[in-house]
Amino acid sequence: MKITRIFAHRVELPLVEGSYKWSGGKSVSVFDSTIVGVETETGLVGYGEVCPLGPFYLPAYAAGVRTGLRELAPHLLGYDPRELTKLNQRMDAALKGHAYVKSGIDVACWDLLGKATGLPICTLLGGRFGDQVRLYRAISQESPEEMARKVAGYRAEGYTRFQLKVGGDPDIDIERIRAVRAMLAPTDRLVADANTGWTQHEALRVVRAVRDMDVYIEQPCLTYEECLAVRRHTDHPFVLDENVDGLEMLLRAKADLAMDVVNLKISKLGGLTKTRQVRDLCVSMGLAMTLEDSWGGDVTTAAIAHLAHSTPEELRFTSTDFNSYVTVCNASGAPQRMNGYMRASTAPGLGIQPNWDALGPPVIDVTSHHDAAASPAATV
Ligand code: MG
Repeated sequence: MKITRIFAHRVELPLVEGSYKWSGGKSVSVFDSTIVGVETETGLVGYGEVCPLGPFYLPAYAAGVRTGLRELAPHLLGYDPRELTKLNQRMDAALKGHAYVKSGIDVACWDLLGKATGLPICTLLGGRFGDQVRLYRAISQESPEEMARKVAGYRAEGYTRFQLKVGGDPDIDIERIRAVRAMLAPTDRLVADANTGWTQHEALRVVRAVRDMDVYIEQPCLTYEECLAVRRHTDHPFVLDENVDGLEMLLRAKADLAMDVVNLKISKLGGLTKTRQVRDLCVSMGLAMTLEDSWGGDVTTAAIAHLAHSTPEELRFTSTDFNSYVTVCNASGAPQRMNGYMRASTAPGLGIQPNWDALGPPVIDVTSHHDAAASPAATV
């Protein structure tokens, strides 16, 4: 099996709530997502999706996905998409860094591997653990009262885990955490995610002020060292996210006892191949994980479901269903939330079909120089 074509479609994903706000006044109202297709001479096509959380969350931006794909795609024609380690090595040789650009191609090749073998990605990633995957709901940064009101609404829909977007004014953040925790059940889990928004002294003030509350603290400060300093002065369960962008940082943070939970995002790490490597190491080390992505629609949600469902339940802290946050359906067959949970598809690959009406014409289309049927061994 050989890659004969790599193409991409741009799709806008407006938010159900109108906007999504987090630390430092950052906000998005319409997400700019890229659906990547990898086609082979057999006629099988695999799909992936990359959707940065705006241009100011990680070193990633939506137009960069497409620019990177134009750079990378010609180097991959003729390669076997089922040989994922080789394919990733080829991508890393052709383009240094830019993990998020590679993520969509890697996920599309996992989709192809699943379709070629007749197996869901979940099975290929190690097997299905449990019946379903528990979800969290991210709560956009608003006034404490409004965030508590939203949590009550999502709780009524079945969610039991919530991630508050804090990282704003520390005094208001303390109120946000208190207002929301007060209306949760003792068994509900609450995460205060500052998304790097606090300075070190602000973070220390917040964790002291909510010391009596059952709340996890996620990525309080910009640098790893600042987070580590906060971590060493608090007994709240601690989550690292933005700082852990690969194996090296994971191992360093583990050795420093810098976190209790790590947030793994598929596109932050560069696709399912690299996320699986980090995930499996976390399982071996007994480290719990939030398994998700930066953002996305139905294709991303399907990939998250396969990753999460193939992770042992005791180490699966939370995941999320991005397709329920947006108004556009970019694929059919993706998991749909049921009472705060979702399930990975049992169909081959991701188990999705692109919704072409939502996608429109391709914005990238890189094919073999030779006719695919006449010359299956097409080269770069
Ligand atoms: Mg986070």
